[in-house]
Amino acid sequence: MLRSFFRFGILLTACWGQALASVHGQSAPVRTQLLQPTAVFDGQTLHPGWAVLVEGDRIKAVGPASELSAPAGAQTVALPGLTLLPGLIEGHSHLLLHPYNETSWDDQVLRESQAERVARATVHAQRTLQAGFTTARDLGSEGADYADVGLKKAIDQGIIPGPRLLVATRALVATGCYGPKLTAEISVPQGAQEVSGADEVVRAVREQVSRGADVVKVYADYRLTAGGASVPTFSQDELNLIVATARSLGRPVVAHASTPEGMRRATLAGVETIEHGDNGTPEVFKLMRQRGVALCPTVAAGDAITQYRGWRKGQDPEPERIRQKKACVQAARKAGVTLAFGGDVGVFTHGDNVRELELLVREYGLTPLDVLRGATSGNAQLFHLADRGQVKPGLLADLVAVPGDPTQQVEALRQVRWVMKGGQIVRQL
Ligand SMILES: [Zn+2]
Repeated sequence: MLRSFFRFGILLTACWGQALASVHGQSAPVRTQLLQPTAVFDGQTLHPGWAVLVEGDRIKAVGPASELSAPAGAQTVALPGLTLLPGLIEGHSHLLLHPYNETSWDDQVLRESQAERVARATVHAQRTLQAGFTTARDLGSEGADYADVGLKKAIDQGIIPGPRLLVATRALVATGCYGPKLTAEISVPQGAQEVSGADEVVRAVREQVSRGADVVKVYADYRLTAGGASVPTFSQDELNLIVATARSLGRPVVAHASTPEGMRRATLAGVETIEHGDNGTPEVFKLMRQRGVALCPTVAAGDAITQYRGWRKGQDPEPERIRQKKACVQAARKAGVTLAFGGDVGVFTHGDNVRELELLVREYGLTPLDVLRGATSGNAQLFHLADRGQVKPGLLADLVAVPGDPTQQVEALRQVRWVMKGGQIVRQL
């Protein structure tokens, strides 16, 4: 039963644009659904009294409810008291990781089998979707090789529920500049692909893209010892080659970077987003602004890790790391750097993705409208996803319903009541 349901859905999806879809040799009409919320947030603006018509897996029409006529046979979905918005887009996830206060990152990479990690990831994917995140940019399998490519395929085939994925696969680190690290004498499998020099970086980019990477991730800096300070790792020439090779294959590059020099080199090389950016200076943010590089500050990850290390939030004074992060985000905004929205979820619980958006509003001075636009149309634009992120005719019917007005209250985003992905209701009221 379940299988034929999925098959039905896949066929409908595949036959978009045709009047009829063939199911088991018979003809069935493409399903049309009229969604009747109290308001629609279209990715930019709130429109009270609007409705949305969905045909197959796409949005057919949107506008004032009184002006939208549903064709005969359309199903009506009443969403009273709810605001309908584009499916949220997680900008920085690791579906193959789970919170570090459950199991340290080192132990996840070294002691968990790939089967266990994938089994966990299927649950993580489902929780992400149920939380209203219909797309996720998953930035590295962290030692699980190309498992993210298989996970994406299983989701796309309807085998398991989950968000649409952009995957980075193994990610690139400079030789010796990642983890886990044991003693100097012992080599252990690393959480990313180690490369050095022109030949290796070019080969690794081609290898990762050919095996399914939608985006190439590079660590422009990292700490050399546990607890040590981050240092720039790849040379400017290596970073330039990574970006040039990926670009010629049609893939963007994103950089993990938290030092001013790592951020500067990554920016000059032409990466599209910088992840974390904890020690960014006004100068480097100015350069990012000039070169059109966005910052994904991942404030939720630092907030979670600092608490795992003993910070009793609300009781203890704010640690230096958090103070620094706040100053950094403020400096980036002052310089006019575009923000990407992603929490590095996996460091904390999957399904709790909205934590990033809540923190940015409550502790970093953004408005609910800022984060709502950012996690929908903003991320879609930054990640080259022209088919989603807005409620607009022709776009994918990835939609979420939340109570009240999320443009005024960020809390609404934690109370997702209904989720549609590609015209299929995946979370019922
Ligand atoms: Zn990450």
